[in-house]
Amino acid sequence: MNKILKVTNEKACIGCDLCVLLSSILVNNKLSINKSPIDVKRVGKGYKVSIDPGVHINSDKIVNICPTGVFSIEQDDK
Ligand code: SF4
Repeated sequence: MNKILKVTNEKACIGCDLCVLLSSILVNNKLSINKSPIDVKRVGKGYKVSIDPGVHINSDKIVNICPTGVFSIEQDDK
């Protein structure tokens, strides 16, 4: 079974963009907010955190860099 990065505690997001920048470096080898596989957008008083479903990210580095514990690595059901 594959493991994959998932958003499991979105309401804790503070919009710091650390996950956006690190995933851009890990996947694209480039520091870019616009071309990152993770997107963080302000929605009302919180944030919407989206992972590009076409990109497989399996990295504890993303889990560990998030200061508020938004991500976890889980089994990929697909
Ligand atoms: S690192 Fe965590 S708190 Fe920061 S933007 Fe990403 S999900 Fe939100």
